Amino acid sequence: MGVVVSLDGVLLSGDKAQVSVFDRGFLYGDSVYEVLRTYQGVPFEEDRHLARLLASAERIGMNLPAPLRTLSEELWAAHRASGNAESYLRLVCTRGAGPIGLDPALAVDPLRLVIAQPVQPPPPSVYEDGASLALVSVRKNLKTAIDPRAKTGNYLNSVLAVAEAKKRGAFEAVLLDHQGTVTEGASSNVFAVLGGTILTPPVEVGILEGITRTVILELARRLNIRLVETPISAGVLLAAEEILISSSIREIVPIVKVDEVSIGTGRPGPVFHRLRAEFQRYVVDYTEANRRPG
Ligand code: PLP
Repeated sequence: MGVVVSLDGVLLSGDKAQVSVFDRGFLYGDSVYEVLRTYQGVPFEEDRHLARLLASAERIGMNLPAPLRTLSEELWAAHRASGNAESYLRLVCTRGAGPIGLDPALAVDPLRLVIAQPVQPPPPSVYEDGASLALVSVRKNLKTAIDPRAKTGNYLNSVLAVAEAKKRGAFEAVLLDHQGTVTEGASSNVFAVLGGTILTPPVEVGILEGITRTVILELARRLNIRLVETPISAGVLLAAEEILISSSIREIVPIVKVDEVSIGTGRPGPVFHRLRAEFQRYVVDYTEANRRPG
């Protein structure tokens, strides 16, 4: 088990992987990235993650340093070289290094890397007993500033939100926009169950189109659970029967408390249990269908 980095296609141990201090990813967060995990050694929803990486790069006018097929091979290679039973995989592409200056044209040689390290999902108690959210004071940046649909290395908005949530003892932060509408977690999407219907903010509100969110949309359809993409106020969130958050590493997490308000029965609810069971089935099927020899 270990940390392995594929740096421009060269496999290195984590402590040997280094990039230039002039890299724009380091200086300005001028980069795009994806985080995914393996199940049975298979990077989950790899095609969707790679498609989102490409879309993120296009949104910020960055050329990806290698074709998606090469990036895919490097994801698999980093996981296999790590010897981890299952890996957390972070794929980062930066605009590269160049003379200091904001003009993106100063960098001509984009950089790519994959970090593979042992995946650390939340403890079982999070799924058995539920977790808490903090409605933080940090607001989601406007989609007309840096569009949250682009998963860029500029994560200070979320870093500040997490710092506040942690100070308040919460598992995850939820960010409202400037009008007080719920957007998303610091690194997760948010769902509220009301009258048996799942509500989730639409992408147009200014959020990342989470891959797990997309899978949940599909699973809800399969389970005949009504799901509506609609703006949610903080008041609606607090009145929900159930709240769920989703991300690639945490999968689907039941939320039983928002700040000091207990949600629903204060225990993970039936919609969570149905979605989680279906998600686990989906993962097994996906893994079976996407194994690669070698
Ligand atoms: N929203 C934000 C801001 C995120 O950073 C993430 C994941 O890191 C998510 C949502 C969830 O996305 P995914 O399900 O693709 O992991």
